[in-house]
Amino acid sequence: QVKVRFAPSPTGPLHIGGARSALFNWLFARNRGGTFLVRIEDTDLERSSRESEENILAGLRWLGLDWDEGIGVGGPGGPYRQTERLPIYRQYADRLLETGWAYRCYCTEEELAAQREELLARGEMPRYTGRCRHLTGEERCRLEAQGRRPVLRFAVPAGEKIIIRDLVRGSVSFDGDGMGDFIIVKSDGIPTYNFAVVVDDHTMGITHVIRAEEHLSNTPRQVLLYRALGWPEPRFAHVSLILGEDRTKMSKRHGATSIEQYREMGYLPEALVNFLALLGWSPGGEEEVLTLDQLKEQFSLDRVAKNPAVFDLDKLNWLNGHYIRTSSLERITDLAIPFLQKAGYVPEEITPERYQWLKALVAAVRDYLSNLSEITQHVDIFFAAEVPPADGEARSVLAGEQVPAVLRAVAEKVRAVDELDEEVARAMLKKLPRELGLGGKKVYMPLRVALTGRTHGPELYQVIPLLGREKVLERVERALN
Ligand code: GLU
Repeated sequence: QVKVRFAPSPTGPLHIGGARSALFNWLFARNRGGTFLVRIEDTDLERSSRESEENILAGLRWLGLDWDEGIGVGGPGGPYRQTERLPIYRQYADRLLETGWAYRCYCTEEELAAQREELLARGEMPRYTGRCRHLTGEERCRLEAQGRRPVLRFAVPAGEKIIIRDLVRGSVSFDGDGMGDFIIVKSDGIPTYNFAVVVDDHTMGITHVIRAEEHLSNTPRQVLLYRALGWPEPRFAHVSLILGEDRTKMSKRHGATSIEQYREMGYLPEALVNFLALLGWSPGGEEEVLTLDQLKEQFSLDRVAKNPAVFDLDKLNWLNGHYIRTSSLERITDLAIPFLQKAGYVPEEITPERYQWLKALVAAVRDYLSNLSEITQHVDIFFAAEVPPADGEARSVLAGEQVPAVLRAVAEKVRAVDELDEEVARAMLKKLPRELGLGGKKVYMPLRVALTGRTHGPELYQVIPLLGREKVLERVERALN
């Protein structure tokens, strides 16, 4: 029975990389009928905050990644916040102390710095060489009497080889000797990441650890702890880095990195999920537009790539555009309204008539959007008091000799109807060229420029009912003068 976890440190918002790790774990669990657990690794007291925790959990929920066990849900392995598990770590730290796998170290910062200098001077890798490993009880008492508070270090056995059979990276071997005796509990009693993660993954019954490649170098330390505690190791799968388009590690420099930022720009969760899944994993077939259900069905760790994934914003935009075009019009309208309100186009209160109009507006422009915030760039033509020709091209379209006849014919037709809905507009547009004895372009282009000021934009049969009778007449007449 597969059991995996997402174990974020709440030191900032949910990032692209974290969301991808969460997604891969979620997909693996769902694909295998296993359990997905979420645990909060908040042992870095200074950098952790409840606000970040909330942000991360909200991001997971928004992406549709539900968890079966863990924070806010409960379960047999709780509590699920590391700062609430201190007695559990103490118990295993005591066990390591008793069995001689751990020892108290009293070295001060200055002493450690001096040791580092010494090693460097001898051309060796700086590491903790075990100065406090064999202190006698008497020496310990003396140091404690000086007010020193010890850390707990793990006694790395000499000559130990660690081979990790990583499900993504294959066999990776490490040498215990270069490692130095690492800290497992700090002087304030808080466990370090490497120790807490092992205790948690074991006591929570985790079978597969799927996480970012940056943790690969921590893994041999964790393996040594599993061995010392007599616990079986989980399987490891380290997922490669995410690079920006310039092939350097993805960072703020490359643009938005948090899930929240993408949400605020009007990206849809299903687009991000689809995109994140393709960051390092590839489906068996050609089809790259995949729903969460399809991903769940197809996901496997052996299609996770070893080489770094490149964050391709064009691809995200393309996917998002696809989902904006194909999702229900009501949903896209509901999501677009706040952007229109923020830009001052739409009042706070949305009457039922206004909602119908907004739906038509969204229907007219959604094909042009790669995210919902862009909607404001496409709707000004409907709200502007005047729409003078936007450029030289538009001006020259209006200068055509047939233009007055076209616009007069339109005005006449519009005046003759009471209700200018889409059907009426379509019928009118269809007949006009033949009635005027002109080619379609000679009719539609000037009308488009008269109504919108531009030579490109939404379909005229959508533009006309959105503007309504009064505005259409007003704009046509203005263009005639
Ligand atoms: N708390 C770690 C992080 O956020 C997770 C490491 C792990 O998955 O083991 O990077």
